[in-house]
Amino acid sequence: MPTLYPRLLAPLDLGFVTLKNRVLMGSMHTGLEEAPDGYARMAAFYAERARGGVGLIVTGGISPNLSGRLEPRASQLSFPWQLARHRIVTDAVHAAGGKIALQILHAGRYAYHPLSVAPSAIRSPITPFKPRALTRWGIRKTIADYARCARLAQRAGYDGVEIMGSEGYLINEFTAPRTNHRDDEWGGALENRIRFPVEIVRRTRESVGAGFIIVYRLSMLDLVEGGSTWDEVVALAQAVEAAGATIINTGVGWHEARVPTIATMVPRAAFAWVTKRLKGSVRIPLIATNRINDPAVAEELLARGDGDMVSMARPFLADAEFVVKAAAGRADEINTCIACNQACLDQIFSRQIASCLVNPRACHETRIVLKPAARKKRIAVVGAGPAGLACATTAAEAGHRVTLFDAAAEIGGQFNLARRIPGKEEFAETLRYFRRTIERTGVVLELDHRVGADDLVGFDHVVLATGIVPRTPAIAGIDHPKVAGYTDIVMGRREAGKRVAIIGAGGIGFDVAEFLTHQGGHDETEAYCAEWGIDTQYRERGGIQPADGRPPPREVWLLQRKAGKVGEGLAKTTGWIRRTLLKKRGVRMIPGVLYEKIDDAGLHIRVDGMPQLLDVDTVVVCAGQEPRRELFDAVRGSGVGVTLIGGADVATELDARRAIAQGTEVALDL
Ligand code: FAD
Ligand code: NAP
Ligand code: SF4
Repeated sequence: MPTLYPRLLAPLDLGFVTLKNRVLMGSMHTGLEEAPDGYARMAAFYAERARGGVGLIVTGGISPNLSGRLEPRASQLSFPWQLARHRIVTDAVHAAGGKIALQILHAGRYAYHPLSVAPSAIRSPITPFKPRALTRWGIRKTIADYARCARLAQRAGYDGVEIMGSEGYLINEFTAPRTNHRDDEWGGALENRIRFPVEIVRRTRESVGAGFIIVYRLSMLDLVEGGSTWDEVVALAQAVEAAGATIINTGVGWHEARVPTIATMVPRAAFAWVTKRLKGSVRIPLIATNRINDPAVAEELLARGDGDMVSMARPFLADAEFVVKAAAGRADEINTCIACNQACLDQIFSRQIASCLVNPRACHETRIVLKPAARKKRIAVVGAGPAGLACATTAAEAGHRVTLFDAAAEIGGQFNLARRIPGKEEFAETLRYFRRTIERTGVVLELDHRVGADDLVGFDHVVLATGIVPRTPAIAGIDHPKVAGYTDIVMGRREAGKRVAIIGAGGIGFDVAEFLTHQGGHDETEAYCAEWGIDTQYRERGGIQPADGRPPPREVWLLQRKAGKVGEGLAKTTGWIRRTLLKKRGVRMIPGVLYEKIDDAGLHIRVDGMPQLLDVDTVVVCAGQEPRRELFDAVRGSGVGVTLIGGADVATELDARRAIAQGTEVALDL
């Protein structure tokens, strides 16, 4: 059968070795690197991805020396005694038919400890530690550390290394005038600023010989003031090619850049244009990256000639079998990464092991094991939101006979609201995945069926995944015609006026504010670049320009009772994006609000004891949620085993990550 993805699945001949396709699993720190049994777990994690057909896997970043560790307990590869644990990983990947490269990452001034070093002693805006400026001897020593690390990686069985030269880490700090203020042979003129990466590649090549992959991750778009110019990017690419790099991977945006580069609101393949710009300037293959999560998008990008390979990182947390499913014409079975960051990067930032919102097995392959159920049961799952979908399909995979009910005409529960928020369109992919999994696993789906206790007679076990009811706060005038619930607004059953107050500034309050202030109607990558000040013409250093401030369609006030910053509780890696976006759109965020009443004049509030009238046309209530579990007592009373999951279990701080993880684990215990 001809494949739909001939370019993506085509082998890549590197001269001394051939990769089986154009898919690189990009580097991701998972936290397993530092866990007590981490390397065995990492072996299982990467081997599953190798069996799933990835062309080349790149590990999470490992430091070549002590000062380069991201944090005090982070991984380092500098000594032969460390090789045995890496062998567990490389052997497992090779046994599964894969290839794997070790990423060498020196954190530079992003290191979260007092031993950090950099070209110049300038603290980064995102770390508390001022780095020490490397001496000339220190620079030579660091270059030798990279070469030694690569040689050790080779001895540990890796097929190559990736030298991390982007995202604002040490190498990038040398190449950009923003952070390199040296006046010796390592700073100043371009040839001096790029001497450090070029020497690293040259010495690494010397130490590993010809038949070993060296990927150089090159910052093609720094997105910070004082970053590189385009000419400098080209010069560096040519120099690392000449020094012995095998492949150049794309890096976009320093960690301190105030531009989102991987969050869900970044359009798919939004940075492929940067890689394309470099095509023709070097002879070695180029890898395009960032927000590529779908084989059709990857194929299209390769067909346009934007790159020779694509890097996908988080999509392999979401689905280990991405490549084999695409190759077998089963792309509709891919569990797509929705770029939420909630279970991967946000977990890492809170020093937990990464996983995936849509695939809780990711990085827990040895703990969450799907095996056939000892006794096949008749299971009813009530509610086809994320919790019920995960539970029903996992139970069916284990061999149970499952009926999944929902009162609505479509599966998805609140995900049908989430997917309507501009920038969260990816959430629809999760529903497509579950729709297909329901078909594949034989779950009997009963839509348009509001279940009563009588419907549940005859099942061996009932799982209630009935979700939540939005909370109605006790505010005078809450039943005034100006007042609307968030479900009606997002589903388009109610149109908001020009001036809107939002009661409640949790995740949903922010989403509704984004929904109400969104300007639609033109090319999404162009709109995204304009809104965040990305210059695709690359006129200034770093590729940035002033953001375009188009007036939003509505004036919005976002309110909360708590004192303190509005949006403080939002996720670490995306909260700043959401606050920045709403500020750009002129949304007024007010904490410490006391709600007094709603009437024809608008919403009456007090802030710091001072009365205020917000003369708004619409008041949208986003004041949290309560569990919906009216069936629980009746089912329990009938003697059938019953389990609550998702919002029906605990509505407070419920998110889809918890809902899907709980649904999966409950199914495995049935
Ligand atoms: P629900 O999704 O509420 O599903 C419950 C289902 O049960 C519904 O389909 C309902 O029709 C059905 N049901 C109820 N009673 C019955 C009955 N008696 N008979 C039959 N069916 C019944 N979470 C995140 O993690 N990240 C996000 O970015 C995110 N964004 C969101 C944006 C919006 C606008 C909203 C509203 C929510 C968002 N969420 C997000 C929250 C997330 O959607 C919920 O945490 C998740 O949907 C909860 O899953 P659940 O299965 O417990 O319940
Ligand atoms: P939430 O995060 O708990 O926020 C509820 C908001 O309502 C808070 O601002 C709260 O702040 C306010 N509130 C609570 N009780 C109130 C009352 N009686 N009167 C007035 N205001 C009241 O809940 P949510 O926004 O409904 O979101 C539900 C869940 O969905 C969240 O837990 C979240 O994890 C998930 N979600 C996540 C995302 C995401 O992007 N990750 C997006 C959307 C939703 P005060 O008490 O200070 O007023
Ligand atoms: Fe993608 Fe979200 Fe899973 Fe991370 S948690 S891999 S962003 S779907």
